Amino acid sequence: MNPVYLDNNATTRVAPEVLETMLPYFSELFGNPSSMHTFGGQLHRRIEEAREKVAALINAEPYEIIFTSCGTESDNAAIMSAVESQPRKRHIITTRVEHPAVLNFCQHLGRKGHRVTLLPVNKQGQLDSDTLLRTLDDDTAVVSIMYANNETGVIFPVETLSSILKERGILFHTDAVQAVGKIPIDVTKIPVDMLTISGHKLHAPKGIGALYVRKGTRFHPYIIGGHQEGGRRAGTENVASVIGFGKAAELARGHLGDDSAYLGKLRDRLEQGLLASCPNAGVNGDISNRLPNTSNISFEYVEGEAILLRLNEHNICASSGSACSSGSLEPSHVLRAMGVPYTTVHGSIRFSLSRFNTDGDVDAVLDVMPGIINELRELSPFGKKHSAKA
Ligand code: PLP
Repeated sequence: MNPVYLDNNATTRVAPEVLETMLPYFSELFGNPSSMHTFGGQLHRRIEEAREKVAALINAEPYEIIFTSCGTESDNAAIMSAVESQPRKRHIITTRVEHPAVLNFCQHLGRKGHRVTLLPVNKQGQLDSDTLLRTLDDDTAVVSIMYANNETGVIFPVETLSSILKERGILFHTDAVQAVGKIPIDVTKIPVDMLTISGHKLHAPKGIGALYVRKGTRFHPYIIGGHQEGGRRAGTENVASVIGFGKAAELARGHLGDDSAYLGKLRDRLEQGLLASCPNAGVNGDISNRLPNTSNISFEYVEGEAILLRLNEHNICASSGSACSSGSLEPSHVLRAMGVPYTTVHGSIRFSLSRFNTDGDVDAVLDVMPGIINELRELSPFGKKHSAKA
């Protein structure tokens, strides 16, 4: 039986049309796009078509898109390029709520001698552009701030931030892994220098990503070797995945408006249903400005992991904390940075939807969740006082 899959910020299913588009590249079209012969060389054109589709999703020019192996590589490559192209500048600014692909990489550079500033967020998970302004100095090489948070869905004011940085001539990278394909993004209106995309968050396979690099931005390759990707990212292309990514981007672009409205309605019904049926529950993050598919809810006096295990028994998939680091019982660094109390962080669950979810999936959660929360509260002496029976 297929699970009720509500963990789409961790990864999404490959869309059937994407899989179908990819299949020939595992069989009859197995050539190397760099080959001189027509058999391999014909793939070059297909890769360029995929590049055009990924570019169109953010209104970029195709040559501004570099294919990479994942969002993490794109994040690392963007920040590394920014510091390598300005060796005299040692200051990197990011936020406390970034994905580890940015946060841990900046901290790694910090251990190698760079000065790293981590910007705080407020209780709603919002970032204040004045705080950024106060931390900028002549030594700042790059600012890397995510477009939307993977745990809460909160959207940062990337347009304002990028305008501030453009005025000062400071490079700006945004990790838009969770935003691309869920909300409209137009790089002709937002003056970011670099922007990260990951295929598997938008119904392409895992192991394919892209980095947008604005025309005129100096770029130092992170992976060095052959001439692929115009010398900006070496390595024989992951042809099938690149082509699947192109198809997924085309579908995402076509679906954008409809998906957004559909997901918002589904998410709100789930959220309101849970808040109404489970006492002592609250939403984490700014609900007026977040991705339409994401809901992060804290259930007081229960452990998030225990909730997940019970949901799992009902074949329902959600996550607690950061999906990519789940398996660790560390409390979410995002919720901690928002000042959410320790006990509340521990009872937080993230539900993240995709266009493949239905009203039936929402009903499945609403059917079981009040019972699960009540039962778990009954099990703990402290929670018992707060269970529905108390
Ligand atoms: N950035 C954000 C905001 C993410 O949510 C993720 C994955 O969850 C990544 C980067 C890493 O992307 P990938 O899994 O493609 O390396």
